[in-house]
Amino acid sequence: MTTFNVQRTTNNAGIPVESDEHSLTIGPDGPILLQDHYLIEKMAQFNRERVPERVVHAKGSGAYGRFEVTNDVSRFTKADLFQPDRSTRMLARFSTVAGEQGSPDTWRDPRGFALKFYTEHGNYDLVGNNTPVFFVRDTIKFQDFIRSQKRRPDNGLRDNDMQWDFWTLSPESAHQVTWLMGDRGIPKTYRHMNGYGSHTFMWINAAGEQFWIKYHFKTDQGIEFLTQDEADAMAGQNADAHRQDLWEAIERGDHPSWTLYVQVMPFAEAAGYRFNPFDLTKVWPHGDYPLIEVGRMTLDTNPEDFFVHIEQAAFEPSNMVPGIAPSPDKMLLGRLFSYPDTHRYRIGPNYAQLPPNRPHVPVHSYAKDGPMRFEPNRVGAPYAPNSYGGPAASPEAYGDLAGWRATGDMVRQPYTPHAEDDDFGQPGTMVREVMDDAARSRLVSNVAGHLSDGVSAPVLERALRYWRAIDQQVGDRIADAVKRA
Ligand code: NDP
Repeated sequence: MTTFNVQRTTNNAGIPVESDEHSLTIGPDGPILLQDHYLIEKMAQFNRERVPERVVHAKGSGAYGRFEVTNDVSRFTKADLFQPDRSTRMLARFSTVAGEQGSPDTWRDPRGFALKFYTEHGNYDLVGNNTPVFFVRDTIKFQDFIRSQKRRPDNGLRDNDMQWDFWTLSPESAHQVTWLMGDRGIPKTYRHMNGYGSHTFMWINAAGEQFWIKYHFKTDQGIEFLTQDEADAMAGQNADAHRQDLWEAIERGDHPSWTLYVQVMPFAEAAGYRFNPFDLTKVWPHGDYPLIEVGRMTLDTNPEDFFVHIEQAAFEPSNMVPGIAPSPDKMLLGRLFSYPDTHRYRIGPNYAQLPPNRPHVPVHSYAKDGPMRFEPNRVGAPYAPNSYGGPAASPEAYGDLAGWRATGDMVRQPYTPHAEDDDFGQPGTMVREVMDDAARSRLVSNVAGHLSDGVSAPVLERALRYWRAIDQQVGDRIADAVKRA
């Protein structure tokens, strides 16, 4: 910690302070006076030091860095940050999902991988995870999913029964649950995990051609993980192990980096692809759409103040810049609303003016007023259009295309199925073809351990059916291990 010993304490108004040792009293043993306004300021400020913690991804750590383009992908996107030789400042925040602020970094959980790029065309936020898939595919199920992973309303405890109850009643979770229960469910550190945009996005090039893409940030440190036993021990020894690791690596100049690749699907191939390419519970096998290198992200600067820069960081998938657009992924479309909405609640409607969220380019927004507004509205007349030289929109930056074509009746239905869409196929491939024998044994042990801790008989029976649907042999081994536990 830096030591400052030349300055004098002031109160929040910059007025020199008389004492940081003694309250103002009538005689040394007398009552404290209301006119000790410095004491009152200290107490009142302290009472207001917290903002509500994030309802998900509450425990996180982050750092600033840079993103450098290493390969020419301008044939796919005109987005400023992905143009040849560009280097863009950025902020990353990594997190667990279900745990609260003080929870251990090493609980089994997906990890958030949220990025904000300060581009020439405003902020681009890519709010991903360390997994390429997710537990549900329709945003209307997200709140229920999260509640099943958090605490029971009666006793305030987390509950494996709730988790397996929800998962087994939502078979689309099978791919993500397999991933979570495998080695990558507990990374060794934040530096030793990959990041994925997870959703499918649209890229648009300068000629107006559209592509569907998926982002893969591969760690240059190599993938490393903790076994369940190692993670449990670490949770007791150092709940902040991942926060400390990231901070200390950057402090000693060992700057972690990730190489960004994209998978690119020609726009017209989506309709006939064997998997629904917008379903967040599915990957695009690399054999179908190989990885194309884009650039490297390097984290080089720790935050000067954790609360200011990391706690107040507000990532929002809706921050897309020209050249990047959403896809018809129902989870992505829900998140476009919910992230900015939660920031307005958590840190206030003017959150975009806070240091980590402020774009590095001038803002000419017609937004005005509201709590804690400190940037003057500089656009003159507070409405558009106006005759007084106010800013004008830039349709030319976007072109004629607003996205994709959609027609149909108003319905509440699952996605139209594609030829190989089913909930258990891809997790089955992962178990049989991606994991080796040792990884499969660890998976069986992790699942059996979880299922043996407070899961009721009917839910357990359903969970064993779920695992046998993923892979018969693995399901049988889990059943045996649970019986022996
Ligand atoms: P590939 O053999 O080309 O890719 C398999 C990928 O699996 C690897 O590249 C690696 O991803 C990832 N992987 C390796 N070990 C684990 C693990 N323990 N837990 C989670 N992921 C792991 O095959 P396909 O592309 O055909 O995919 C086969 C299966 O692999 C999929 O069904 C899916 O379950 C899984 N997978 C696929 C990914 C994809 O985007 N295609 C990404 C991650 C997993 P990475 O290279 O990103 O480190």
